[in-house]
Amino acid sequence: MCGVFGAVVPVGSETEAAAVAALGLFALQHRGQESAGVAVSDGEQLMVYKDLGMISSVLDERRLPSLRGRLAIAHCRYSTTGSTVWENSQPTLRLGPRRAISLGHNGNLVNTRELLAQLRGGRARLSASTDTELLTALIADEPAADTVEALLHVLPRVRGAFSLVILDERRVIGVRDPHGFRPLVLGRLPLPESGDDLLPGLWGDDERVGWVFASETAALDIVGAEFIRDVAPGEIVVLEQGQAPRSVRYAEAQPALCVFELIYFARPDSYMEGRNLYEVRRKMGEQLALEHPVETDLVMPVPDTGAPAAAGYAEASGIPYREGLVRNRYSGRTFIQPSQTMRQRGVTIKLNPLREVVRGRRLTVVDDSIVRGTTTKQIVSILRKAGATEIHVRISAPPIYHPCFYGIDTQIETELIAASHSLEEIRSFIGADSLGYLSIQGVLAALELPYEQFCFACFDGRYPEPVPYDAASRKFMLEEDPLEAVGGLVLPGARG
Ligand code: SF4
Repeated sequence: MCGVFGAVVPVGSETEAAAVAALGLFALQHRGQESAGVAVSDGEQLMVYKDLGMISSVLDERRLPSLRGRLAIAHCRYSTTGSTVWENSQPTLRLGPRRAISLGHNGNLVNTRELLAQLRGGRARLSASTDTELLTALIADEPAADTVEALLHVLPRVRGAFSLVILDERRVIGVRDPHGFRPLVLGRLPLPESGDDLLPGLWGDDERVGWVFASETAALDIVGAEFIRDVAPGEIVVLEQGQAPRSVRYAEAQPALCVFELIYFARPDSYMEGRNLYEVRRKMGEQLALEHPVETDLVMPVPDTGAPAAAGYAEASGIPYREGLVRNRYSGRTFIQPSQTMRQRGVTIKLNPLREVVRGRRLTVVDDSIVRGTTTKQIVSILRKAGATEIHVRISAPPIYHPCFYGIDTQIETELIAASHSLEEIRSFIGADSLGYLSIQGVLAALELPYEQFCFACFDGRYPEPVPYDAASRKFMLEEDPLEAVGGLVLPGARG
């Protein structure tokens, strides 16, 4: 996960790019809650402000005014490589012999150890233990005169998932890996209609419009930007003040967008592949009702992310839809918190049953995923204690059998309940009366797009990018003794 945003505000704008970037980042808080930060350039120097914590506590009105400049990038972090410590927060900042670079990364590299071997001075030169810090150092070190040229040298050696926003003194650059595992969109800050200026002074009355990058289209909406297009897999898009975006290809596109972005991670009001994600998820619920019908009194979602699929299930089954669990909006997403202890505590903090709705009823409970099973088990237990007579769990995604190495922190196979338990064993563990998962065919029917466009690897093990064995279980590899490193073995991508 992680959220990234980049902004170039128009010449003459009174609004600083940091304000636009921070505002855009607020729409991406769900993508990472461990740390947040902004980097700005005033045309001569870069400055970064970042800290551990939620965006609103890090980027508040006391800090933002001091971050002056027309170019900015912003990042919120969910860790997939390296611990949750200040040094590992982003954007990174690196001064090289030819350039200063700041970088925000969504994704996870799979050839980190190989790249580390290419870094002059090795791990001792890194001030953080993330693959992002390593990538920043490699780009900053490149002797090429220009940042884009440096990227053309470095990026072909980098493997894995990376949607990047990069800042140098004069540019904001957006990059997507050749598979486009993680999303990244380009937007334009339009001229305002009179009296409708969300950010006063931002929009000039000339042709010099501003440009933004964002992980999701919902972040364009919040800053009033118009969606222009996706940054293509294998593409570099360069934004400079007063100029139209410039596109540079560094690799052939082999699209494999993470299907989990559409099922669960991204906001329902975002669009991907031309589809609104609420609608996609509602259709997944319809498919789920076709594949796993059950006679109950009510269909209810696990809030908030299960709601669109539950609505679709209710519509297709004709069973009334009601909400039976109330979510504490300020407790965060349990999946995203890094430790199991935090996750277990998180469920009871965040969900409370509506006893009047639940008591004496047979329930179809719709959620979008079961990862470790502990959260679902607690939800079933909460509903039983509240008086539900039957609980039938329906999941609007297939079972997760395989870990993700491309930016989702389910790196150890033993953490995944479906990898080691049968359907019946999972049902018994969570304490439900029945359990049904949507099939891959059901997901595709809802998407109305071909399988080849997506990564489904956590469901079917067909990794679009082969994963070296040492990347397979080593979130903390840059914090370990390199002599202990395991190398050589490769989990082959079944797609070649
Ligand atoms: S393995 Fe799963 S979570 Fe990871 S990128 Fe592929 S579909 Fe997404």
